[in-house]
Amino acid sequence: MLRQYELVDLVKSYDPDADEDALNRAYVFAMKKHGAQLRTSGDPYYSHPVEVAGILTKFKLDSTSIIAGLLHDTVEDTDTTVEEIRKLFGDQVAQIVDGLTKLAMIEQKSANNKQAENFRKLLLAMSEDIRVLLIKLADRLHNMRTLHFCAPEKRARIAKETLDIYAPLAERIGMQEVKTELEGIAFAELHKEAYESIQARLNFLREQDSDLVPKIIARLEKDMKENGIKASVSGREKSPYSIWRKMQQKNASFEQLSDIMAFRIIVDDVGACYQALGVVHSKYHMVPRRFKDYISTPKPNGYKSIHTGVIGPENTRIEIQIRTQEMHEVNEKGVAAHWAYKQGERVVGKNFRWIRELLEILEQASNPEEFLENTKLEMYNDQVFCFTPKGDLIGLPVNSTPVDFAYAVHSSVGDTCVGAKINGEIRPLRTVLQNGDQVEILTSKAQHPSTEWDRFVVTGKAKAAIRRYVRAHKRDQFITLGQQLLERTFKNENLEFGEKGLINVLPNFEAESIDDIYAKVGEGLVTAWDVMKAVYPAYKQSKLGKVVKSLTFSKTPRKDKSKAEPLKIKGLIPGMAVHYAGCCHPLPGDRIVGIVTTGKGVAIHTIDCKLLEKFADEPERWLDISWGDAVDDSPHIGRLKLMLANEPGSLGDLSNLIARNNGNICNLNIVNRTVSYFELLVDVEVKDLKHLTDIIAALRGSKVVSYVSRAG
Ligand code: MN
Repeated sequence: MLRQYELVDLVKSYDPDADEDALNRAYVFAMKKHGAQLRTSGDPYYSHPVEVAGILTKFKLDSTSIIAGLLHDTVEDTDTTVEEIRKLFGDQVAQIVDGLTKLAMIEQKSANNKQAENFRKLLLAMSEDIRVLLIKLADRLHNMRTLHFCAPEKRARIAKETLDIYAPLAERIGMQEVKTELEGIAFAELHKEAYESIQARLNFLREQDSDLVPKIIARLEKDMKENGIKASVSGREKSPYSIWRKMQQKNASFEQLSDIMAFRIIVDDVGACYQALGVVHSKYHMVPRRFKDYISTPKPNGYKSIHTGVIGPENTRIEIQIRTQEMHEVNEKGVAAHWAYKQGERVVGKNFRWIRELLEILEQASNPEEFLENTKLEMYNDQVFCFTPKGDLIGLPVNSTPVDFAYAVHSSVGDTCVGAKINGEIRPLRTVLQNGDQVEILTSKAQHPSTEWDRFVVTGKAKAAIRRYVRAHKRDQFITLGQQLLERTFKNENLEFGEKGLINVLPNFEAESIDDIYAKVGEGLVTAWDVMKAVYPAYKQSKLGKVVKSLTFSKTPRKDKSKAEPLKIKGLIPGMAVHYAGCCHPLPGDRIVGIVTTGKGVAIHTIDCKLLEKFADEPERWLDISWGDAVDDSPHIGRLKLMLANEPGSLGDLSNLIARNNGNICNLNIVNRTVSYFELLVDVEVKDLKHLTDIIAALRGSKVVSYVSRAG
């Protein structure tokens, strides 16, 4: 185990300005806090964070990272609080340790490794600070190095998780060295027999010609020198894991795999890479389909190199990689190398967004600490990842809601969702989901997609499902509405209503069936009166106008009992055959009236809406409507006009008061503003009229509100 002064010396060797005092304090703090805790190896627990800090010095990370590495398990495994760390070591260290603790908790939540890809993305999205991720990888690397001390069942699980999640993650941020080591250990654990037989085979080959690698290196060096290329050549056997992977991919036996050796030619610049390639290809036979140019087209993680396969010196099939020193550093060390390069020349790898952003910060930052501080992980910050109750992870775009989540699980879950529990608590369907939320969708067979959802869903899948449903059901809705309209109109006039009469007039309305007529009436393309006049040509219209006028312009309930019941909204889906007018925002409890709108079905207005005067001359459009007794769960919008004192905190007081009364502000408009007050229009989601009235009453009692009423 690294001793305290050894660790400090390591950090100071590459960062002379490192905060020596803080490093010393962190070392002692971790030692004290973990106290007598033991690792399964029998070592004192604190040896683990110390080794993790040691690995971080290999990446040449700043002292903040090293300190956070020393403290990374204190909050999770001891009585230490994040606040304590903040007081002793500052905000940054506290934030990083907090991030690591959260990651550890998320790790426990995820029961399902099948979703490794989403889990990796979640880790990336949650590691707001790149240092969180680097420390997490160092932590995993040390746990893997000491894996053999764990119980066998636990070993397999950790090894699999490493192969599924952490090795690809290391590759994703370009840390080839870490990736290779993680894979090597995990492979030896999970596929012991394959590992041992490959190892035995490699040993055998080595015994046959122990000088093969040095001989080939010498030949390649000579080739380069003869052609005036300055190069350093290295060679190695491929790792057992990469040999095994090749065997799996090609479905080949070890004997069939001829290139088990890889050589690297490192040169000064890009031009020399292609010169060296020319030399190799002119001297040795190229193996078809083994040539890859990752310099002109780098891998998504920024990896740059030329790969080729040839029948090389000694008639051996080999793989050759050609690259510059700078590419090599970045390929092996990834993000850490970018940091290490900060004092050197410009850095390569400007080919994907987040690295480019790293580089921009790098250019502007005056010191490495500042660089790391500003390096927020940009990856996947446009996505959120949430758990199903079984621990499966669902990836969604930012601002997604439980409805989006439900559709992502399955369209039948989406279609029937009535509610959601987020982290165990019932929350509205429009709630915006956060990373790591556990979401349980409540469903009911009686439910169907709601046009209301269209206001808040963000995923294409949810939007498409809602539209599909609307398309399929709009005509049904218009038919239902049209039939009701016709029946009522006929009944009001004491005329007989029947299908027979309608069949006779089908041609008048270019209709092929009775449903066609219903749909046209429901949609407002034809009025119920037009149909009635067609069926009973002798009927006089004059009598009708009166009825409508008495219904609309007297605000007292009608006494005329001879009339049919008003049409009930119940059974009609808001947004399809009926919709609420935006001018007066009717609420359940309001007296309402419907206006048949051409092509859009029925618009519902409050009975005192000013806009209704526009329709005074078109009595055939008017419709007596009631709310019915349906329990309508979807929120309605009530609009308030109010005067608010122009003073600090008044807007906060207002929104708190509305929230305390279970209202949700969905829009807010400042109409007028003076030195002493704001005049506002506030749209609030409420259940019904009484709910809005209660909110108004509460606002009237507030000191900051000088006037409030419902806006007409
Ligand atoms: Mn740890």
